[in-house]
Order: sequence, then structure tokens, then C-alpha cells
Amino acid sequence: MNHFLHLPTIMVIHGCSTLISALLVGNLWRQRWSSVLLGILTFAAAIGFLGTVIHAMRPIVPFWMSAGFAPGAGALALGLFWQAIAVFEGKRPNYVRAAAGTVIWVVLYLTPIFHASMTFRTAAAALILGTYSVLGGREIWLGMQREPLPSRKLAAWVHCTRGGVWYSMLVGSLLLEPPYKAPGQYADWFVLASLLQTLLVMLSIITLLILALERDEGTSRRVAERDPLTNLRNRRSFVEHAETLLKLESNSSELLLFDIDHFKQINDTHGHAAGDKVLMEFAAMLEGRMQADWLLARIGGEEFACLIPNVGTSDAADIAEAMRRAVECLHTTIDGRFVPVAVSIGVAATDEVASSLDPLLAAADLALYQAKADGRNAVRIHRPGQSLRDLLTQDQATPVAANEAGPSGRSSRAKRRS
Ligand code: GH3
Ligand code: MG
Ligand code: MG
Repeated sequence: MNHFLHLPTIMVIHGCSTLISALLVGNLWRQRWSSVLLGILTFAAAIGFLGTVIHAMRPIVPFWMSAGFAPGAGALALGLFWQAIAVFEGKRPNYVRAAAGTVIWVVLYLTPIFHASMTFRTAAAALILGTYSVLGGREIWLGMQREPLPSRKLAAWVHCTRGGVWYSMLVGSLLLEPPYKAPGQYADWFVLASLLQTLLVMLSIITLLILALERDEGTSRRVAERDPLTNLRNRRSFVEHAETLLKLESNSSELLLFDIDHFKQINDTHGHAAGDKVLMEFAAMLEGRMQADWLLARIGGEEFACLIPNVGTSDAADIAEAMRRAVECLHTTIDGRFVPVAVSIGVAATDEVASSLDPLLAAADLALYQAKADGRNAVRIHRPGQSLRDLLTQDQATPVAANEAGPSGRSSRAKRRS
């Protein structure tokens, strides 16, 4: 094997890959000084580079450096790498754990039996380094349920494989032959394991960076999908998900459209911040009543929508009525003063209209308009054939109580449609 796998070349490549990793991560750290994760990773890669270079210089450096210092540096590098992963998983870095392997290594190195035996030294170093690699992989694996990033399995697998290769070096040194037989002569298993380590060291850093990218991407996507005030889905995200849900759902789905009554008055009387508080409490109340497959969003200023798949109209009307009553019971206080909140809700079913979002929204909007016209604080269900023209005619024919349909009320909804 030594004919086509040349250990010094592998060591140079190994050194170069750890150097590139250190420079790459160090450059990222330079841009984000506050990142503990990048700081630890930079130190891990730099110390790993140092250990690799000194180990590769075995023929020209003193024994204590190549046989004692280099594996100790390697242990510290992997200990730090493990703690970088722990930081990635939201834990505080534990530097004692990161340094424990090096301390154990120093104690063993100073013990005569280990000091004198290359086999024992190799086995002990491989055990420490392998355990750190496996601990890193385990850390990534344990985060799977909490945050199922797409590349988690791959990253955990890479770290555990790296641990496996270290353990194979332990077995190789104990059962086969020592890694270095004579100057310039290396055991085949050691050459192969060193090559695998070279590949895996790069992969372990790359997969960790991929996990960080996936997390950033997920965070940006969530921010783009959410309304910052209420943390509910925004209109764009609602439209996207509702269209998909309606395509998949063959049974009837119901859309509930909510519009807080006389919300402008709340703003005008108590201030915009008070209006915001009402919106947040209203949203939290709705969210608390959601079931897993329902889709809730803030689709406008004081307008919210909830798509309920696979439900009949009468059940949907009951749900809407329960929510209307719950809003009545919201005890929002501003500066110690109670602010009454009420909501009008329009309900429409895919049974009645085409199974796509636009006609469903339009139908629920008509029903909502009806609820407003009927005096607000009410639930209305869209009737087939109902049109805005009918509603406007009815609206003019049946004036609603002045306190219910103030200037901000009916006229504003008519404005919204124009
Ligand atoms: P109606 O009963 O007919 O629905 O009357 P309304 O007053 O609720 O409706 P209108 O459309 O006249 O007023 C809605 C108000 O909601 C106007 C706007 O300033 C306010 N608004 C929209 N977005 C926000 C927000 O994020 N925070 C606050 N505080 N107010 C908002
Ligand atoms: Mg409105
Ligand atoms: Mg309103």
C-alpha cells in the first residue's frame, strides 16, 4: 500500500486542509467577533493544524514534540470542536471538558509504560480523539428532535465515522503493528486511517458550517413568513400554504375571516400602542385555540384568517361563534382601563365556491361584510348566490344602529373593496 499511498504526502494534505479550515473559519469569525462558535472553531482548527504539522515533522523535531505535544494538541483541537458543536446546540462551552483529553494525555505520556511504548501511546491517543469525535457526533444527533435540520444526519454520521476511524487506529496499534515500523516505513493500516482522517477532518468542518447555513436559512424564512407584531403567519405565507392545503384536501374546507370591530376607534381613543396590544392579545387568543392542521394568519391590519381543512359548515360556524365569544371575554386593559374588543367573522366553505383561495376569500369577505352590516360582533356564513350588490342594497335599505356602524365601520369596508 505504501507504493501508492505516501504518508508524508497525506500528512501535508492533512496539514493544508486544517490550515484552510482555520483560515476559512477565522475569516468568518473576523466578520462576526461576537460568535463564540466561530471563535472556538477557529482555535480548534489552528491548534489542529499545529498538532498535524509537528506530528508530520517527526523525523526532525525532538521526540517530546512529535510524540507528546502533537497528540496533546490534537486532543485539545477535538475537545474544542466538540464544545463548538455544544455551542451550536445552544449550550454554554465547557472548556474543562475540552481540555480534559489533553490533561489525560499528558498524564499518560509522563507514565513510563506509555512513554516507552508507541503501541500504547497510539492506542491512548486514538481512544481520546475517537471519544471526542463520537461525543461531537452524539451532540449533533441529540439536537435532531429539537431542530431537524436537513443535514443533521450526515453531520452526525461524519463525526461518528471519524470516531470510528480513530478507534480502528486503536485496534490497529494493539492487534496489528505499530504505526511507524522504521524510519520511512509505516504500517498499511496507519496510512489508510490517516488518509480517511484527512478526508473526514474537512468533511466534519464543512458539515458543521452547512448546519449553520441551514439554521440561518430557516431563521430568515421564518422571519419572512411571520408578522412581526403578532408572530402569526403573514398574508403571503398564508396564501402560499392555503393554496397547497386546498389542492391536497379533497373534503370540504372552511375559511374564517376575522375583522376586529371599530378598531380605528381603539387606536384613536387609546393610542396606537394600545391598538398594538389589542392585536397581540387577540392573535394570542386565536393561536391558543388552533389545532395542528389549521392555518392561521394576520392577513391585514386588524384582519385575520383561519383555514380549517376537512370540516363541515355547521362545525366551522360553531368554532367561529366560540371564537367570537372568547374575544368578547378578552380582558384587555390599557393604563388600568378596560378596553372592550369585539370581532365580526365571515365563514365560507370550499363546497360552495371553487376549491381555490381567491373565490374562498371573496366569499368569506362577503359573509364578513354581512356580519358588519348586521351590527358587528357576529358570525355570518356565506350563502351561495350572495353578491356584494345584494348586500349593498340591503345595507341601504336596513340602516344599522349608529353606535354599531360608525364612520370608520361600514364605509371603511366599502372603501376597502373600491
Ligand atoms: P370596522 O368595524 O368596520 O372593521 O371598523 P374598523 O375601525 O375596525 O376598520 P378601519 O378599516 O376603519 O380601521 C382599521 C384600523 O386599523 C386603521 C388602521 O390605522 C389600524 N391598523 C392597521 N394596522 C395596525 C397596526 O398594526 N397597529 C395598530 N395599532 N393599528 C393598525
Ligand atoms: Mg378591516
Ligand atoms: Mg375592523
